[in-house]
Amino acid sequence: MFHFLQIGGSAESFAIAREVSALEGVRLTTSFAGRTQRRRAIKGAERVGSFGGTEGLIAYCLHNGVHGLIDATHPFAARMKANAHACAQRLDLPLFALARPPWMPEKGDQWTQVASSQEAADILPKSSKPVLLAMGRQEIAPFAKRHDLRLVIRLIEEVTPFPHPNHEILVARGPFALEAEQALFARYGFGALVCKNSGGDFARAKLLAARRLRVPVLMLERPKPPKGPVYTSVASLVEQVSALCRAEGQERACVP
Ligand code: NAP
Repeated sequence: MFHFLQIGGSAESFAIAREVSALEGVRLTTSFAGRTQRRRAIKGAERVGSFGGTEGLIAYCLHNGVHGLIDATHPFAARMKANAHACAQRLDLPLFALARPPWMPEKGDQWTQVASSQEAADILPKSSKPVLLAMGRQEIAPFAKRHDLRLVIRLIEEVTPFPHPNHEILVARGPFALEAEQALFARYGFGALVCKNSGGDFARAKLLAARRLRVPVLMLERPKPPKGPVYTSVASLVEQVSALCRAEGQERACVP
């Protein structure tokens, strides 16, 4: 059996697991950081929790007989991507990395691209209208000091109290339909949206709602991914994984 370790976290990692675990002669384990309490079920085996840096990941791969890596982390999971890349190099393992294309501004969009959530919090103008933060709980801390803003923070899970005097937390999990996003924007009358450039369709509707309702967007740029080939779709990644497995299968069949 060819044992793949998928570093999961992105929405696509579930589709990849479905496809790869169905391949003949393949065993798949998907790893999650464990930040989400209520995770969807995934095909194949799963393990949860940090590895302990690159060295920990290497030790895990050696101990568990991993033959190949799939990087299906979220586009903002820069450290984990770097660790997977370094591990593949050190152990000379094949690495299949998914890189979902980023969103690009279109006609009617009012985007300001920012390098970090700190920069977003620093430059967001004072406004009487509420601001929608749709960027994950790891990025919201810099907004705690913006007492001059009313914050509406959308998260997939409730967080421990957020130290801000005028905020509301909306617990909701995507994907969100455009109609629902527009209704949300209209109900609150948002003055700005702050989000990450995650790309993909899963979380795109908020951008369309912002465009239609002329709401300015502060868009967090992605961290630079490690150098190396990437696949921009699940289908192209799975095709290459499958090709490798077929080649490995034939090679084994030829050994007398
Ligand atoms: P990160 O900064 O790349 O990861 C930090 C550490 O968490 C890694 O070094 C690793 O610890 C551990 N880790 C991350 N993903 C893991 C996985 N799949 N399996 C095992 N360990 C994992 O990424 P992050 O802290 O998760 O998130 C950074 C940004 O990405 C945030 O903006 C977050 O909202 C966004 N994001 C991440 C995920 C995700 O599933 N990771 C999903 C959605 C959004 P060790 O080095 O100790 O092994």
